Amino acid sequence: MKIKTLNKKSSTVIAAMLFLVLTANVSFKPDEGMYPLSEIRKLDLKAAGLKIDINEVYNPDGISLIDALVNVGGCTGSFVSKDGLIITNHHCSFGAVSRASTTEKNYLENGFKASTTEEEIPAQGMISKITVGYEDVSEQILEAANEAKNVSGRTDAIRKKIKEITKEAEEKQPGIVAEVSEMFSGQTYILFKYQIFKDVRLVYVPPRNIGEFGGESDNWVWPRHTGDFSFVRAYVAPDGSPAEYSKDNIPFKPKRYLKVNPNGVDEGDFIFILGYPGRTFRHQPSQFLMMQQNYSMPYIQNLYQWLIKLYEERGENDPEFALDFASRIKGLANTEKNYRGKLKGLHRLDLLDKKQKEEKELQKFIENDKQLKEKYGDVLGNIKMVYDEILQLGRVPLFLSQLMRHATSIRLAALLNDYREQFKLSESERPSIFKEDNRKELIKRIDDIYSFFYPELDKKIITKMLLDAASFPEGERLTKLEAFPLEDNTKNRIDENVDNMISNSVINNKEAYKALFEKSEEEIKDFNEPLLQFVAAIEAERKHLEEAGKEREGKLNLLLAEFMDAKKVWLNKAFIPDANGTLRLTYGYVRGYAPSDAVYFKPITTLGGVIEKGEETGDYKLNEKVKELFKKKNFGRFKNEKLNDVPVAILYNTDTSGGNSGSPILNAHGEIIGVNFDRAFEATINDFVWSEDYSRSIGVDIRYVLWVTQKVGGADFLLKEMGVKL
Ligand code: GLU
Repeated sequence: MKIKTLNKKSSTVIAAMLFLVLTANVSFKPDEGMYPLSEIRKLDLKAAGLKIDINEVYNPDGISLIDALVNVGGCTGSFVSKDGLIITNHHCSFGAVSRASTTEKNYLENGFKASTTEEEIPAQGMISKITVGYEDVSEQILEAANEAKNVSGRTDAIRKKIKEITKEAEEKQPGIVAEVSEMFSGQTYILFKYQIFKDVRLVYVPPRNIGEFGGESDNWVWPRHTGDFSFVRAYVAPDGSPAEYSKDNIPFKPKRYLKVNPNGVDEGDFIFILGYPGRTFRHQPSQFLMMQQNYSMPYIQNLYQWLIKLYEERGENDPEFALDFASRIKGLANTEKNYRGKLKGLHRLDLLDKKQKEEKELQKFIENDKQLKEKYGDVLGNIKMVYDEILQLGRVPLFLSQLMRHATSIRLAALLNDYREQFKLSESERPSIFKEDNRKELIKRIDDIYSFFYPELDKKIITKMLLDAASFPEGERLTKLEAFPLEDNTKNRIDENVDNMISNSVINNKEAYKALFEKSEEEIKDFNEPLLQFVAAIEAERKHLEEAGKEREGKLNLLLAEFMDAKKVWLNKAFIPDANGTLRLTYGYVRGYAPSDAVYFKPITTLGGVIEKGEETGDYKLNEKVKELFKKKNFGRFKNEKLNDVPVAILYNTDTSGGNSGSPILNAHGEIIGVNFDRAFEATINDFVWSEDYSRSIGVDIRYVLWVTQKVGGADFLLKEMGVKL
């Protein structure tokens, strides 16, 4: 056979072509966007690097990767075996693991492994769901909204219609749970149908010093060395219907599960992520940002820092308390650091100023056209008027909701007040928790609240929060609390009053408290005490705000729709809806970044890096087994030849948010090569604005997941279940 030799010129052309092919991905810029199901098929993912048909990713008429996606208690997970095995993050099962742990059997510290399905234990709180269908119901909702007599009625009309639609969908298709999600305020509403799993069990969870390696020091930070993964399993009743935990339940058989690719990815590779991002606020007006920047985030940050210190100090010499509060502290610290990142980002980018300027430009554009002026001329002014009222309230709504959330005694008193109040309501209006059939649920709720009841902590929390509120400026006052004796600005009195109020309450005697829920209307009517009165005043304040809030919500529902319309005309483009807890796709490339002057971060970390960071104690406490295995260079098949090490975490330029925790990172063939778990510090601002320059997401590399599971956990059977050949 004659082999044609290439002349110099043609080899240069080929080299140039090869260069183009090899660098095609690298120069391709992914868009900002968490694309909803309805948009996925409009994307040119092939051009971006996808090697499978789009129908394999999402196919409304057949089975696709979407069927392998699970919402795991607000996080994301994915099926990785035909027997309902789910991979998600360590931090997503953290609460369930700490609940299952005792100081003697501490699964949180030491990890958990079920060698057989019989050994799997309930993962409390990890109720899961998969999306089984969706339908646009905008027309029905907007028709109902437009029939409302006034703006405040608009909010009620929308809520009522949503209830009707979901009820009807659930009746039509028993076993599903229906939810209507607002995609664009006042414009688009989608009915999502979910199949629910109430019985989810822990399968394998690495020890805390792997799953949370780097702790809060490394949270929201790159470079990262955290083995943030865990395995759980979804169970259903023998007939396939959703069921609470029962020994008779069987593992769920998903329509589709992901293929695990133990070879991972390389720098520059195309990847995409499917998941359930929680909330973003990119389409909100500048005043929303102002509210966040000036009130909400600084208030929460201050409060959470204080609470973390309070709980940590309390747990210093009490391991049981420390274990009970571990998940709570982690959640507070996670939000606190996220807000710190966001506030830094807001100032760095001067985003508020940019948004305000953008709105001025939009106003100018509107005013330059007679028709537009007629239609949208007042929109921005009217939005401002609504927000002026909201800004006037400042921190008050937050104060009220946070007080309810963190002061356990307030929650106990509120439940009792609700019980007394329900007698005044008609049968249909009564909260179902007080119905005789739900007695067990009520007792469970009370027991749950009591498990966090520490009167001496509550006294400190309420005092701190009231003192903070007393320093709010004139406009931001708690009108209904004004008359209450606790609203005093001398520290001693507030201290004393709070102390007396809690010390003298029935809540200190759990049995006596529970017995009150057995009493009739007549018997309980005169039962009153300062704590109940105080909580009633708080509730009154909340109700009062809620009523006024409804009117504002109704107005904004209309105004934000017009605002988006005007922006569409101005920028001549369509928008992707903000994240709202529904299924989305985002794509990008494994890529490093340069977050500050003269600094460049590579996109892959290694086991060697874990050892380098490792210490004896604290956030970087090294796992003994990891240390030993590394010393022997026992990497098995998970070594990357180029790195001569096991890859641990990867960095990529996708558009993710909270809720994307646990999302599968998929390669061009739709195989799972990692699990998303975080963002870089600069990318915490993603919730307001995304940019290729600094928005980076972080995932644990599948090779580290498999290496830990096999070598540290000795759970070879899971690799076998996932079809990973060793
Ligand atoms: N680490 C994040 C969290 O715990 C989840 C992922 C993200 O927000 O990017 O909220």
